[in-house]
Amino acid sequence: MKISIIGTGYVGLVTAVGLAELGHQIVATDKDLTKIYKLQAGIIPIYEPGLEELFKKVRAKGLISFIPDLATAIQESEVIFVCVGTPPLADGSADMSQIEEVARLIAENLNSYKLVVEKSTVPVKTSYWIKRTINLYKKSEASFDIASNPEFLREGSAVQDFLHPDRIIIGVENERAREIMLKIYERFQEKIIVTNIDTAELIKHASNSFLAMKISFINLMANICEKTEADIEKVALGMGLDPRIGREFLKAGIGYGGSCFPKDIKALTRIGEELGVEMGLLKEAHKINEDRIRLFLEKVRKALWVIKGKRVAVLGLSFKPNTDDIREAPSLKVISELRREEASIHLYDPKAMDNMKRIFPEDPPNLVYHSNLYEAIKGANALLILTEWDEFCQMDLDRVKNLMANPIIIDGRNIFEPEEIRKKGFEYYCFGRH
Ligand code: NAD
Repeated sequence: MKISIIGTGYVGLVTAVGLAELGHQIVATDKDLTKIYKLQAGIIPIYEPGLEELFKKVRAKGLISFIPDLATAIQESEVIFVCVGTPPLADGSADMSQIEEVARLIAENLNSYKLVVEKSTVPVKTSYWIKRTINLYKKSEASFDIASNPEFLREGSAVQDFLHPDRIIIGVENERAREIMLKIYERFQEKIIVTNIDTAELIKHASNSFLAMKISFINLMANICEKTEADIEKVALGMGLDPRIGREFLKAGIGYGGSCFPKDIKALTRIGEELGVEMGLLKEAHKINEDRIRLFLEKVRKALWVIKGKRVAVLGLSFKPNTDDIREAPSLKVISELRREEASIHLYDPKAMDNMKRIFPEDPPNLVYHSNLYEAIKGANALLILTEWDEFCQMDLDRVKNLMANPIIIDGRNIFEPEEIRKKGFEYYCFGRH
């Protein structure tokens, strides 16, 4: 099938490459032409494990191409996957301007029947607005349908998630759209759930909000553990072994970040409120998450007393391991605060440093990026762990201890066993453990 992909970010690019791997002919485009030119030259603009290999494979087969011209991409395909951003506005609701812009472009270039697929995460009822926009601006009599096909990939394992989905949700309102979507995902037949469009749109927001809530719940329990003799890791294990609860997303720490959970929980809260539904449950989950940074910084102050002038090593800048994405990463707020308090900050991340340099440019001796973790911790008065990269879990603790000025670790991800690390001579702070 000939499919165009609009927006080649984390979702669009993985979707483009994944659909090409399923055998479809893909033409992808983006407003950001630097991305398109890089992709045309065979360069992947993001870090995502396995993406480069698959990209090379489908490119060699001639199944994928990148063009700067959105009009051509729209005109030449029957199916259009919309993968643009839906970032939060100041009031928490989703900014739909990128989606509207694409809907207008589709309207202006509607030369034959099109199936417009919402891949971006959008508020329930968005299909109504897309349809209205296309009808308002279209210049031809050609017909079109809308389908919702929310994306559940996780950055860091996005390619695997695309190729081995738990479920594929397809929201449609007629047989023609249903047939096309079933054909696109023929290989995953047994994973497909077909619903109406509102349901499909809501499934995505509901899933992300539920997972965010689960993290906030365990963090709330971690706060209780800190005031008692209970241990959050064991509480999480004891809870998680109940199959109704499950072990995933029960990790206490500095809280969730990224471009999805914080924005989606706020967007769903706004949607509910606009519909007159009391959304206190989600508001509280968001509030608990916001408070994690304050609690983490409290631990830093407890360890260092005065932050001003202290040499602080920060390991982990991405919002989670195996990605270079720093959107809404806890590191952003922690670094801001350390800068405000005039610490000397030494940063290291395996993949996210280039992105972080755009926000916090190098400013020696106040803010320095290092090419490896051991360089970053040399002479440090404290070591802060903000992302649970494998590299940090496996670091040589004897070497770390010898390199640091004071062997103090403040661990935002609970990656070490407190008893063991203290035995090695470290002063150790984490969440919900003693
Ligand atoms: P992103 O910012 O990485 O990518 C969006 C891309 O759309 C950018 O490259 C941007 O230049 C492009 N774009 C914006 N307006 C455009 C236009 N008018 N025409 C062409 N291109 C345009 O965002 P992302 O992380 O890929 O997320 C995209 C959507 O998918 C969001 O709604 C997000 O919530 C959702 N989603 C993201 C993830 C994730 O893990 N990142 C997972 C599931 C769903």
